[in-house]
Amino acid sequence: MDLLDWIRAIFMKEKMKRTNVILFGPPGSGKGTQAQKLVEKYSLLHISTGDLFRYEIGNETPLGLKAKEYMNKGHLVPDEVTIGMLKNKVEANPEVKGFIFDGFPRTIPQAQALDSFLHSKGEEVSALVALEVEDNEIVSRLLKRGETSGRVDDQNEEVIRNRIKVYSEETSVVYDHYSKSNKSQTVNGLGTIEEIFSRLSKVFDQID
Ligand code: ADP
Repeated sequence: MDLLDWIRAIFMKEKMKRTNVILFGPPGSGKGTQAQKLVEKYSLLHISTGDLFRYEIGNETPLGLKAKEYMNKGHLVPDEVTIGMLKNKVEANPEVKGFIFDGFPRTIPQAQALDSFLHSKGEEVSALVALEVEDNEIVSRLLKRGETSGRVDDQNEEVIRNRIKVYSEETSVVYDHYSKSNKSQTVNGLGTIEEIFSRLSKVFDQID
């Protein structure tokens, strides 16, 4: 390879490098609301595993019927089901500039699967950005959302507490997983939607 080829290869790699951000935080921390605003500002694709499951449930697909049993109890859907669904969604969108993953990865095996999947495509997770909100605030936000969202998992305090428990026992370690490569950052998730969006935008502006 001569010098020109080498420079061209580096340039192409830079050009094709996608931004893959994990928007992290407990249930009810505002990930979905903020993701909608962030994808617009940064031209990324929002992938919410919760939304994907709800779509499958709405269409009564075999995957949806399987996921429903777990979701309605506040449990996690098994990793192999979730990982397969996520990969399909990424593969179906080769042209986008990058992704905001919302609600994924939620376990260490999911994080490892995402890392190796992206590596196999010459990519990686660019950053993990966590919204920080305390438990009592989460419970009241979710119960309030349950009044209008029609989501079964938002209507029962026991199910909500269970989701918070799953978050602290299985999901919060995903933050530490990405801290090892200095990719994890925290943003205060209390305040108005615009205040939080502006805090997140400052972090997103620094992601390369
Ligand atoms: P929230 O973050 O508000 O709890 P989501 O819409 O992200 O809601 O997810 C709802 C439910 O969907 C979860 O409680 C879980 O049962 C299931 N789910 C979503 N993402 C995953 C995932 N990555 N792994 C396993 N289960 C998931």
